[in-house]
Amino acid sequence: MTDTMPLEVLTLEVLTLEVLRYRPEIENEPKFQTYTVPYRDDWVVLDALNHVKDHVDATLSYRWSCHMAVCGSCGMMINGEPKLACHAFLRDYRHGVIRVEPLDHFPIERDLVIVMDRFMEKLASVKPYAIAKAEKPLEEGEYLQTPLQLMAFKQYTQCINCLLCYAACPQCGLNDNFVGPAALALAHRYNLDSRDTGKDERADVVASNEGIWECTFVGACSEVCPKHVDPAAAIQQTKISASLDWFKARLWPGAHP
Ligand code: SF4
Ligand code: SF4
Repeated sequence: MTDTMPLEVLTLEVLTLEVLRYRPEIENEPKFQTYTVPYRDDWVVLDALNHVKDHVDATLSYRWSCHMAVCGSCGMMINGEPKLACHAFLRDYRHGVIRVEPLDHFPIERDLVIVMDRFMEKLASVKPYAIAKAEKPLEEGEYLQTPLQLMAFKQYTQCINCLLCYAACPQCGLNDNFVGPAALALAHRYNLDSRDTGKDERADVVASNEGIWECTFVGACSEVCPKHVDPAAAIQQTKISASLDWFKARLWPGAHP
């Protein structure tokens, strides 16, 4: 099915978007729909989708919010690669059709909107927050850190939960129970935080077969991350730390790892 092109675009250079549509109330399975959009040098794929939504087909569904690679909402497959739609310029796809699909390895809720429930469960399972053995009384002041202590985990705080890494990870495609790169990187972030004492509480999930040991270190997660987080490194570092803890527990039974 093709759209009707607004009059004002007829004189401009145009591009073709092939967008995967799925409206479960009227369709049994997803299928592609083609839209023609104006080409502009400064437009990203999200602008093209917004053009479709505003001028051509208001029924098209997708998530977005900030338009500046901060909210993590507009992750989708663009010509087969996981990308933020607000970070993918039309000029990089100028000489061909742009195929837009929901992120791989997630069920489709509707059109480009994926179901995130399983990811939210995995995220919660690693307890992604600072756990203190005992709260300090307020009068003792804040929990201070040195710049070096901050540097140990800072890159992992940049994660925006865009889920591009789950779409890129082959293990996420093979095993829906794999905790996955972003959640494991976030667990590592808190394990490295000098204010946190929750490593043991996270270990059952993090150091399980469906945690770090499911990762085969392909590294695709780190390659696609738009925030330069390195989940593959986090997972490999966690493997080393978990192995050391395992040996310590056997050499000094009863000792705290
Ligand atoms: S390094 Fe591990 S988590 Fe990252 S893509 Fe490869 S298998 Fe997935
Ligand atoms: S680690 Fe990177 S790719 Fe993965 S969810 Fe976080 S920001 Fe997105």
